[in-house]
Amino acid sequence: MKLVFEHATLLDCTGRDPQPETRVVVEDGRIQRVGPDAGPGGPRDARVIDCQGRTLMPGLIDAHVHLASLDLDPLAEVAQPPAVLAMRIARNIEATLDAGFTTARDAGGLDWGFKEAVRQGLIRGPRLFISGAFISQTGGHGDHRVRSDRGTFPVVPGLASESILADGAEQVRHAAREVLRRGADQVKVMASGGAASPSDELDHVQFSVAELGAAVEAAGAVGTYVLAHAYGPRAIQNCLKAGVRSIEHGNFLDETTADQMLAAEDVFLVPTIITYELLSAREAGDGWTPDMVRKIRQGLTGAYDSLGLAFEKGLRIGSGSDVLAEMQGEKGKEIACQARVMGAMNAIIAATRTNAELLRIEKQAGTVEPGKRADLILLDADPLAEPAIFANPGHVRLVALGGDVVKDLDANPPP
Ligand SMILES: [Zn+2]
Repeated sequence: MKLVFEHATLLDCTGRDPQPETRVVVEDGRIQRVGPDAGPGGPRDARVIDCQGRTLMPGLIDAHVHLASLDLDPLAEVAQPPAVLAMRIARNIEATLDAGFTTARDAGGLDWGFKEAVRQGLIRGPRLFISGAFISQTGGHGDHRVRSDRGTFPVVPGLASESILADGAEQVRHAAREVLRRGADQVKVMASGGAASPSDELDHVQFSVAELGAAVEAAGAVGTYVLAHAYGPRAIQNCLKAGVRSIEHGNFLDETTADQMLAAEDVFLVPTIITYELLSAREAGDGWTPDMVRKIRQGLTGAYDSLGLAFEKGLRIGSGSDVLAEMQGEKGKEIACQARVMGAMNAIIAATRTNAELLRIEKQAGTVEPGKRADLILLDADPLAEPAIFANPGHVRLVALGGDVVKDLDANPPP
């Protein structure tokens, strides 16, 4: 498909100011040319899209989703037939694309089969980078058993991967190799306590450096990396020592640890503020316990200050939403949360250019430049003036994925 976007206000996400009256030519799925409307036109047989001055930008990237998270109450989930669960997960994937996310990194839970279903064209979806099962220590953030439970996890095979519990470097190495065998693009470990787990606190340190290092080694052996759930300084420092590349949440980052992150090569912080905002507003119920409410609210207290510190220090800051269950539609709200601290332009760059670097797809995605894949979105409002627009998929008028128009609200007749 050949496409020519004309009269666009181009927000290319390289860091440049928006360029009015811009033409972007797409051929063979790639961006061929970017230039002023006054310059050379596109191929004669191209579909011409008059952007009427609206903002054209790269597709968004969410670096921390859980697309298989359907209900906060695990019992509600297992009570449903697998076919219904599969359809609901598919709906999450399609809605994520329609909200303007052309790439998403699942931070644990989504089975490889959904990535395959997208690849085969059975469902519409963003480019997916999956982590498969979480790897957690016994009693860690991935261990969702209540204290009285002596049994093992309920699992829905082939849809959502529950945690793999592993203790000791050899078990962690085995677990990492197992998730990679099942199709994980990168390996997710739980390096500190968390809110949704019943037997830990946020500041608990989980896994030793040796255990984390075993996961890093197994991932590195096949050319990929580890992302780690980690809140506080001790957990983050363990991750850095072990060679973990992507620090998730990081809500209690301190100055010493931020300096260490800066000194470490190729390390990213992926804040996920919106999930704390949304969950903090909830009261207990439907499987969400008072203890979880307490811990989530505690997590929110550090979220903005940590991002402020990371920004001030010049860390590489990605963007994740981490939204769960019925909040799946709210991924775009993370950008406005980050914008409160770093300004709209930096928050948008985190969700495009920097996330592309994090996912190692910066040669393909993250900015609008010649040679990159034509993953583009067209907005009917100015995201720099009002970053909250990403919360509403209705503002995302058009989505192109590899040069194919996969959403077009202004098509006549509508698709
Ligand atoms: Zn998460």
